[in-house]
Amino acid sequence: MSSIVDSIAPAAKPKPASCTAFGCARDFDERRYVYTVISPRAGGLSIGVNLNPTRCCNFNCLYCEVPNRVTGLELPVDIEKMMNELRDVMTMVSTRKLHRRPYYHQLPEGLLELKHISLSGDGEPTLSPNFLEVVQSLVHFRALRMFPFFKLVLITNASKLMEEDVANGIELLEDRQDEVWVKLDVGDQERFQKINGTSEKLDALLQGILGVAKKRPVVIQSLQTAINGVGPTPKEVDQLIARICELRKEGAKIASVQIYSATRPVWNTEVGHLKLNNLSAIAQAISKKTGVRAVVY
Ligand code: SF4
Repeated sequence: MSSIVDSIAPAAKPKPASCTAFGCARDFDERRYVYTVISPRAGGLSIGVNLNPTRCCNFNCLYCEVPNRVTGLELPVDIEKMMNELRDVMTMVSTRKLHRRPYYHQLPEGLLELKHISLSGDGEPTLSPNFLEVVQSLVHFRALRMFPFFKLVLITNASKLMEEDVANGIELLEDRQDEVWVKLDVGDQERFQKINGTSEKLDALLQGILGVAKKRPVVIQSLQTAINGVGPTPKEVDQLIARICELRKEGAKIASVQIYSATRPVWNTEVGHLKLNNLSAIAQAISKKTGVRAVVY
């Protein structure tokens, strides 16, 4: 299989997000909340729970793949509907009906094994007004053992980790296989504002990550991109590395760092993909200087 990065076409023009590098977009099949996707970072089949059908996010990342995001339109998840959808999808997976759907039928068995259920979204999942209730429902559903065990993964931009309901929700992800993936693209305030499109303080975000990572290992997700053809400078990479080193020094447990580029077409024409050798160089520098395994996806 060719590298994910190799297979990404230059993002010169925005176009509808119809394909991922693995060849298929998220598959909602007319559901509101629950989708399936073959995810490179999951290593195969992921079931996603979209906590933001209304596309709410408090960041405005230059590389964001979600068109027409909004702020202030956070709606609570309809828990009953979400759980009905999840039961349907879990049944489809466990009875191998998914395997017969277009696109999936051509995939190798290994990619069709369920790797995890993610809490994610067309936006930031922790903005959901009933985030805690969603986590409670998923954990309860798993405890019923109607289906084989699955791990839960929260994928977050890390900006709300210190909020009480979010912290309480994360506490519920108590199986040792459960994971929290946090976004950390940059290591300085100026670039944080530029790349992630936020006026929030990078230090506050780092404190949130530290608070979680002192209690449990986190995975750092670091999307690296080229802006008008220019990737991060060595100094900017060093600033990112310095933040990771500081987190570790203060007691953060960091399981790994995911280095990657956007996998669906981005809408911002200034944004392009870094070549595999650039991504690899960043990952190698992080691994070498922080002692944390960094992997290119
Ligand atoms: S945090 Fe995620 S959803 Fe929000 S703007 Fe950034 S990439 Fe888009």
